[in-house]
Amino acid sequence: MTSKNDTLFARAQVSTPGGVNSPVRAFRSVGGTPRFITRAEGPYFWDADDKRYIDYIGSWGPAIVGHAHPAVIKAVQDAAVRGLSFGAPTEAEIEMAEEICRILPSVEQVRLVSSGTEAAMSALRLARGATGRDKIIKFEGCYHGHADSMLVKAGSGLLTFGNPTSAGVPEDFAKHTLVLDYNNAQQLEDTFAKLGNEIACVIVEPVAGNMNLVRATPEFLQTMRRLCTQHGAVLIFDEVMCGFRVGLGGAQKLYGITPDLTVMGKVIGGGMPVAAFGGRKDLMKFLAPLGPVYQAGTLSGNPVAVAAGMSTLKLIQQPGFYETLTAQTSKLVQGLSTAAKDAGVTFCGDSVGGMFGLYFAERVPGSYAEIMAGNKEKFNVFFHAMLDLGVYLAPSAFEAGFVSAAHDDSVINATVEAARKAFVSVR
Ligand SMILES: *Cc1c(COP(=O)(O)O)cnc(C)c1O
Repeated sequence: MTSKNDTLFARAQVSTPGGVNSPVRAFRSVGGTPRFITRAEGPYFWDADDKRYIDYIGSWGPAIVGHAHPAVIKAVQDAAVRGLSFGAPTEAEIEMAEEICRILPSVEQVRLVSSGTEAAMSALRLARGATGRDKIIKFEGCYHGHADSMLVKAGSGLLTFGNPTSAGVPEDFAKHTLVLDYNNAQQLEDTFAKLGNEIACVIVEPVAGNMNLVRATPEFLQTMRRLCTQHGAVLIFDEVMCGFRVGLGGAQKLYGITPDLTVMGKVIGGGMPVAAFGGRKDLMKFLAPLGPVYQAGTLSGNPVAVAAGMSTLKLIQQPGFYETLTAQTSKLVQGLSTAAKDAGVTFCGDSVGGMFGLYFAERVPGSYAEIMAGNKEKFNVFFHAMLDLGVYLAPSAFEAGFVSAAHDDSVINATVEAARKAFVSVR
């Protein structure tokens, strides 16, 4: 019997490059046919064959209250009947900005955009415009969207400038991006000692989730904060993934570090296209129409998207929301670890709030190099075994996973039961 997913994938590849609108969806890393999703509810989604999966990607983060939450759907429906887009300001945008500023004390002013890529790109331009400097620092393994300056990997030696990771990115752009090792405070010190007065900003995922989950060490982030302040560089926390995910106040609250700018996305749109960047007022005033740094968007602050985002922001502020989310996520990681141990598989897991990492390794990795040393083949076998058993993990060993408020004990237990079977095939 051929699967409808196979038929759809073949058809999709005719009209769309690779059959998908974002590369990781194509299952290239794990092999096999991507599942075409028809609907989602709570912790589940269903594919074209009407097979149900427990979903651990949650749209890569946004679905934190569970899919199709009635309050979010109602807010979207109510907004939609009033019109889809105006290209003129609305009161709902003020409410959303006020809410974000209230939740994140480091954010005095915020601008809404439509994707994390756009938010990160705009924050970089703002940092460059405000400092009058060109060079930026990012870290290997962190993802900040697909703007030219960010698709860069480390050059051949320390303090050499980066090389493009994508065709179409001019080396003339990449040369302004310095790529350093995540969690290497000494390297950061050395770089600032040499080039401090040329650096516009440091951008970092303060809890990394785009090379699988890797926590920053407090020392690494503290050093970064100190060096940026000393050298007049802008510290940008890219909290598109970890913001409103590791806890209500994001990684900045968790670590007690105040960035100059914060990039947001994913959860704040509740499944609709809302992202944002914000921070110190004296930096934000450089943005048009007040200042010389240009930034704009036809659909920025879209009323339907903002309605989804606002209702999500309200739901995550219910008492105990993050306590429960954190507990359920660590229950999952504990359960999977025990199942792996019982099956004799080398495995460990980690979680921060509602995001988690699974590693076919002895120890939880603390760097990009340690992540790359993990066993990708074992992950791929495990991924497919879990998929067959109705559990949808991120289709790559280099992505974090996400739990939602709808993942109750029965869902977690069902996942662990599936994993007991799946780990046997990994041995
Ligand atoms: C997802 C992500 C982005 C990009 O957001 P898009 O909405 O996919 O453009 C940027 N930074 C981080 C940390 C992300 O996880």
